Amino acid sequence: MKLCFYGASQTVTGSCYLLESADTRILIDCGMFQGSRIMKELNYGAFPFDPNLLDAVILTHAHIDHSGLIPKLIKKGFSGPIYATTETIELCSVMLPDSGHIQEMEVTRKNRKHSRTDVPLIEPIYTVEDAVNAQKHFVEAAYNQKTAISQSLSFQFVDAGHILGSAHVIVSAKENNTTKTIAFSGDIGTSGQPYIEDPEGIKEACMLKNPDGIRDACMIVMETTYGNRIHPDKTNRMENLARVINNAHQKGGNIIIPAFAINRTQDLLYYLRKLQDDKKIPVMPIYIDSPLAVAATRIFGRNTRNFDQETKQLLEAGQSPFAMPNLHLSETAEDSIRLNAIQGGAIIISASGMADAGRIKHHLKHNLWRYDATVIFVGYQAQGTLGRFLTDGAKEVTIHGEKVAVNAEIVAFQGFSAHADQNELLAWLKAAGGNADHLILVHGEDDAIQAFSSLVQQKFGIAPIIPELGECLEIADGEIKRLKPSKPWLKEIEDRMGYPAPQEWQSHPSKSVKQRSSEEGSGGRTFKRRRKVLLSEANRAYTKLRKDLKLFIDRSNERKDYENLIDTFESISDLLKTRMKR
Ligand SMILES: [Zn+2]
Repeated sequence: MKLCFYGASQTVTGSCYLLESADTRILIDCGMFQGSRIMKELNYGAFPFDPNLLDAVILTHAHIDHSGLIPKLIKKGFSGPIYATTETIELCSVMLPDSGHIQEMEVTRKNRKHSRTDVPLIEPIYTVEDAVNAQKHFVEAAYNQKTAISQSLSFQFVDAGHILGSAHVIVSAKENNTTKTIAFSGDIGTSGQPYIEDPEGIKEACMLKNPDGIRDACMIVMETTYGNRIHPDKTNRMENLARVINNAHQKGGNIIIPAFAINRTQDLLYYLRKLQDDKKIPVMPIYIDSPLAVAATRIFGRNTRNFDQETKQLLEAGQSPFAMPNLHLSETAEDSIRLNAIQGGAIIISASGMADAGRIKHHLKHNLWRYDATVIFVGYQAQGTLGRFLTDGAKEVTIHGEKVAVNAEIVAFQGFSAHADQNELLAWLKAAGGNADHLILVHGEDDAIQAFSSLVQQKFGIAPIIPELGECLEIADGEIKRLKPSKPWLKEIEDRMGYPAPQEWQSHPSKSVKQRSSEEGSGGRTFKRRRKVLLSEANRAYTKLRKDLKLFIDRSNERKDYENLIDTFESISDLLKTRMKR
């Protein structure tokens, strides 16, 4: 048996694991890489396997960093089934075409530039049409039911409590008269999320016994996104939200909430409806301004069979967890533009969650300068995004080329994550992994995965395996042989592109990179042509660096944080010295 890690290893995006056993080859997830340009480069070029030879794909959930390259897989020759829960299939039916659309738009923009500089035109990774075509390959598989992929290999989904339809995958593979169990955690949910069930865990995954009463090999492949963090504010999130909304309402301006279209928007609707029903916040017009969020909300509203007990009771009483009479769904561009005229008293929820793209930028442009407006951030804001500038306290930002003063109140909430934190990951592992022969840690940035690995060694006495990107494990007679790529994948791309990967993918708080997912697409390959436009690019980069430096110095001065200033300057000097030696 061979298990290869072609994504979400040393990083949190691009989930993709190839499992070869006896006569069957399957892929668990086929996600898109996100984050830095080096990371995104992994979305291009050939897959490290032949898609024609795969028997099936098993998809843990709809998030684009788990599902985003499925249309490409089909474009490159895969013709088998893609097993997923009904909810995941429905969400993919809107998310994948949206991702295709983003890629088409970005490539059109880049090609416009290329045609001016006589650079060959590029193609998107896949188009809306490719994504729509992919849909017919999806096959439904319910939770807790065995599905046979071949005579020797079967799997079952277990509710992962992460987002609607998310699943852990337990694979059973017969080989040489033994049955091996390989449990893939997918993304592990956090407890106490609204309307979906808490993670079920995979308590029995490693307790299967063969007819002789001997337990065969069992392996767990586990995510570690928040392996080094505890979610703050989680227990008080409703009260905190109510307090901020009441304050904002009293001030009279609009409340603008940047939110990811899938899951976060629906969570917000659930909370707002509940707070409103409990009379903890006033009834005010609420607008969802994102076509993807509107489509997703409808999918959430009709896929309620796996909701938690409390929400099921609400449904039985004829109520919807996401519907309110004062909720307005804004789909067309005209709908969206009309919202610009609202000067106060409304809640506007729009994508993207980090305010770096999409309609939310218009709402910020129209409200940030108002003293009576409030902007509420409910997710992690990655460095370099508009959301991050605002949560860091910028007094002025540039939106669509215009300078906008920041007079609105900016509030940033933690505690809305859909991922298990360190304590929950440990509890999940305790329930699942007591009997595991091998524990493999994936889907975590370096800091998170190393911290979690040390903790696991301390608490369970197991030394986890942390595979590198592109590494395969050969598993025979209980022994694991590690087959690493001859050159680290990212180093190879770095050399090819002619510049090093930014720190972002190495030590960035992991959730940030992941969350870019549903809203952000990828552009085309441009690195080979960089030499032709080197001087103009260098000039632009230099101007940007000067601006960034000025901003950084100003901010450090404001905070009297000179230690950070010196540290940063010394790091830049070191980097320059290393570069000059090359
Ligand atoms: Zn996810």
